[in-house]
Amino acid sequence: MSGVRLEKLVKRYGDVQVVHGVDLEVAEKEFVVLVGPSGCGKSTTLRMIAGLEEISDGTLSIGERKVNDVAPKDRDVAMVFQNYALYPHLDVAENIAFGLRIRRVAKDEIKRSVTEVAGILGLTDYLERKPADLSGGQRQRVAMGRAIVRHPAVFLFDEPLSNLDAQLRTQMRAEIKRLHARLGVTSVYVTHDQVEAMTLADRIVIMCDGRIEQVGTPMELFMNPANLFVAGFIGSPPMNQIKATIVAGANGPEAALGDPDANGVAHIPLPAAEGLHAATGQSIVLGIRPEDVLLQGSGEPGSVPFDLDLVEPLGSEALIHGRVSGEPFVIKADTYGDISHLNEINRFHVDASRVKVFDAASGAALYQPEGARERARGRA
Ligand code: ADP
Ligand code: MG
Repeated sequence: MSGVRLEKLVKRYGDVQVVHGVDLEVAEKEFVVLVGPSGCGKSTTLRMIAGLEEISDGTLSIGERKVNDVAPKDRDVAMVFQNYALYPHLDVAENIAFGLRIRRVAKDEIKRSVTEVAGILGLTDYLERKPADLSGGQRQRVAMGRAIVRHPAVFLFDEPLSNLDAQLRTQMRAEIKRLHARLGVTSVYVTHDQVEAMTLADRIVIMCDGRIEQVGTPMELFMNPANLFVAGFIGSPPMNQIKATIVAGANGPEAALGDPDANGVAHIPLPAAEGLHAATGQSIVLGIRPEDVLLQGSGEPGSVPFDLDLVEPLGSEALIHGRVSGEPFVIKADTYGDISHLNEINRFHVDASRVKVFDAASGAALYQPEGARERARGRA
């Protein structure tokens, strides 16, 4: 087993550069998820690791070995795609065995391996079926079996669950996580789905336009996004973003929402942090997670006016859509089995320690707890 190291990895198609010097170190046994919007270069990066795309510039190492010019079959990686492309005329056992057969592994060794892998994946009773007679989830498991049976140093996944319906996707997601806990193989997993990234990853790599915006554990990215892009990408519904100006309040820095010269504008206290005093007058974007809004005691002074638009009940929670100083704003609230009181919300509070502050011009986070900034990498 081995780790994977990308150093200043670049991909160009002709004159167009689509991956701009990506640096990343995946530790042995680690499960790293590359996530980002469609077209941001996730698949291209993964395919460079697999050897399916030529590397335009930079260095790729698997274990201690530089593999830029090593053929895909000699890199000791196995890839699972969105389109699992099973051989329709072969049964499950033959599909799983295929990679071993072309490598001329001995017959009884193949049989032993296929039996073992089928057991791990719950396919033992289906070994003689053809892919057409399997459910989507079972087919996905066969595709995984084909990868596992080779005992590769690294697993590469490219949106392996995107073809499954929502329920099956949730189920297979948990299976992949259990499988990784059991096999402990170094894995790089590509998805555009932030929930998949959050639930599966040891560390998440967020990409945008061929660059890494931030690398961190799921909770690091959720709690301390390095910039507005990450803040808007991780979390559902996404973090609310409100334009504001830093002003000096009686008890420390505050954010004045909207036009700072307007009378009676709402002020939100900011987290007590050194840098924020110095930045009085600075234009910022205030980040407030929908679930961090406090509805209790919202009639007190210092609360923020809220123009309610509509309430979406989800069951135990509800999403309350509206506006704050003219900008869209979503609140997530517990219903306790009744939403009638939620229709009357017109003010709320926020806890200063939960508010995020970003520079309006660069989008970079102005305040990050100790250590978070060094781990964060971004354009800002
Ligand atoms: P993602 O997997 O994040 O959706 P991709 O890595 O597939 O994105 O693509 C990144 C960018 O590279 C996109 O802008 C895409 O159009 C471009 N691209 C991908 N393959 C090619 C190709 N063969 N020729 C030219 N451009 C390509
Ligand atoms: Mg892709």
